[in-house]
Amino acid sequence: SSSLSVDQRIAAAVTPAPITDIGARLGLEPQDLIPYGHDKAKVAYPALAAARKRFDAGDRGRLVLVTAMSPTPAGEGKTTTTVGLADAFAGLSRNRDSRIPGARVSIALREPSLGPVFGMKGGAAGGGHAQVVPMEDINLHFTGDFSAIGLANNLLAAMLDNSLHQGNPLRIDPRRIRLSRAIDMNDRVLRQTVAGLGGPGNGQPREDGWQIVVASEVMAIFCLATSISELRERLGRIVVAEDYDRRPVTAADLGAAGAMTALLRDALQPNLVQSLEQTPAFVHGGPFANIAHGCNSAIATTTALALSDLVVTEAGFGADLGAEKFLDIKARAAGIWPDAAVLVATLRAIRHHGGLANVLRHAENLRDVFGLAPVVCLNRFPDDSDEEMRAVIAELGEAGVVAVEARHWAEGGSGATTLAEAVLDAMDGSAPAPRHAYDLDQGLAEKIEAVASRIYRAGRVEFSPAARRELDRLAEAGHDGLPVCMAKTQYSFSGDAALRGAPEGHVLEVRSVRLAAGAGFVVVQCGDIMTMPGLPKEPAALSIDVDEEGRITGLF
Ligand code: ADP
Ligand code: MG
Repeated sequence: SSSLSVDQRIAAAVTPAPITDIGARLGLEPQDLIPYGHDKAKVAYPALAAARKRFDAGDRGRLVLVTAMSPTPAGEGKTTTTVGLADAFAGLSRNRDSRIPGARVSIALREPSLGPVFGMKGGAAGGGHAQVVPMEDINLHFTGDFSAIGLANNLLAAMLDNSLHQGNPLRIDPRRIRLSRAIDMNDRVLRQTVAGLGGPGNGQPREDGWQIVVASEVMAIFCLATSISELRERLGRIVVAEDYDRRPVTAADLGAAGAMTALLRDALQPNLVQSLEQTPAFVHGGPFANIAHGCNSAIATTTALALSDLVVTEAGFGADLGAEKFLDIKARAAGIWPDAAVLVATLRAIRHHGGLANVLRHAENLRDVFGLAPVVCLNRFPDDSDEEMRAVIAELGEAGVVAVEARHWAEGGSGATTLAEAVLDAMDGSAPAPRHAYDLDQGLAEKIEAVASRIYRAGRVEFSPAARRELDRLAEAGHDGLPVCMAKTQYSFSGDAALRGAPEGHVLEVRSVRLAAGAGFVVVQCGDIMTMPGLPKEPAALSIDVDEEGRITGLF
């Protein structure tokens, strides 16, 4: 049908393997999987426990982190490259004469949010010949994880408002409620609301608000917890409000953690799907990359590492945000470290940034701050010229940066074989030791300054009075050992989206800081960060439909 998108048509031309076959490639038996239809499954708890044991015993594969230069709004192709590179590795593993014959390869990605699916064009299942399938399902509800996360959040909100209504035994100050309700939808009218109108029977009236599910702390927790017990414990630590003495009131105080965990029991099991070339793909969890850490669940990554020789995963946004938080937050929480990094760049974004300075700065940061010399992947777009491509690769080479062109979008895994070989080269020798932008025992302001100066190359950080006060309060309350989760624009190294290239000496303005005690980080807001987006004038929802055979159409 002509109303299928290009990506849908490419995907529809391929017959996926039964999901049990995909599991078998990773040594999973049929009983290790909970099938959701024929081409999706969750990995069951007993298999997760077995994988965990292997992981803890050090029996784990190598991890490749895919990150990017500062992107343009269209996205430069991290997800597409994650899939294409894994398919390239899988192709090499099928070749007896390659360097990795018989290697088990898998992918670990975030689940898409419905906000962008219905908002701007662009799904989050890769693109062209480097996709994970079934893309319609993955982009729309999938296995219901985000609904479960929204429900767990909203159960907590209901129990909070009920406590206020039932005599307020915790002495919650209704003016100091921190928790928002959550829904996986771009719906700007919900940003600020009033709840409990209509008289005493309807509860305590108060100012309320909603976030998109991917911005909720429950989502961040879901993606950092490595077991059910850890999930429950982290959920209990969520600070929902302050009482009249300004002491924190937590989800545990409300008695909500057990029931929230019950709602999340099924969801916490990672989803298994496949690429168009039948490479196993774990697609699980999806926190924002600004006010949260922006990568798939820790449990999916550690499971993938236990079951595979090579895992390719993605961190959101550009490397200043996504890779920094992958390495300073997720890697610390999950006990992992990448063996190699791929920095995705496009001629379009290089032009947008006025040359190679932006790519070079990201590459330098990864190498000098984190000890990961990246391979730059020049993700080839249909209109790119050979001449410009060759010039860029030569210039990067002169600057001491390994760069290769990759054509997985157009050609599938075989188009990324050169990239795969370059990444294998980068992994020759001993595994890199973890290195971070800051130590956890530095003060919170010092950690923020470390990221600002070492990664963003800011001249100084300017804290608002409110941010200063809150940092002091957090230190007094004993939270200064937490990592910081930086929330700023993805379009620039600075806090100003219009500052392109590789700016230096700029001022990073920290507007506010907020404790996410369950997630185990302090969110640092630099500028206005939207936690409930709105739909654009022409939302993608206008072109999405379903035909008489039940096929979804118009999905990108
Ligand atoms: P990111 O993960 O960095 O946000 P994606 O991989 O999701 O980027 O890609 C963004 C969009 O660009 C997707 O719609 C994808 O299909 C498209 N895309 C990615 N790489 C290419 C390419 N080489 N040629 C054409 N379109 C591409
Ligand atoms: Mg992506």
